[in-house]
Amino acid sequence: MLPKNNNKIEKQLRKKAGEKVYARGVGYFNNKKIFNLTVEKFEDQNNYLSISGEVYGDDIYVGNFIFDLKKNIILDNCCDCPYVGFCKHTVALALEFNDRILNK
Ligand SMILES: [Zn+2]
Repeated sequence: MLPKNNNKIEKQLRKKAGEKVYARGVGYFNNKKIFNLTVEKFEDQNNYLSISGEVYGDDIYVGNFIFDLKKNIILDNCCDCPYVGFCKHTVALALEFNDRILNK
């Protein structure tokens, strides 16, 4: 099942990660594999947020991305897993952020 709020973030994630990786991230999200979600503001950039969290897959990985609140876009991302590119952990993290913070 996909997250119910079909919005701009989902489209971005699909595009950034590709359908296959996106689907795996959705799996993590649906199975509630994201822990310690933290959202931090930048002191000098009010409209930017830094989002981090742990994703429990085969291993525990810490993902992070920067979100532009004004434009509703994901600007930058990183994760400590070996995958090169936009990984399933960051997809899961972004879906969790979307669900818990943005869609409140
Ligand atoms: Zn990752």
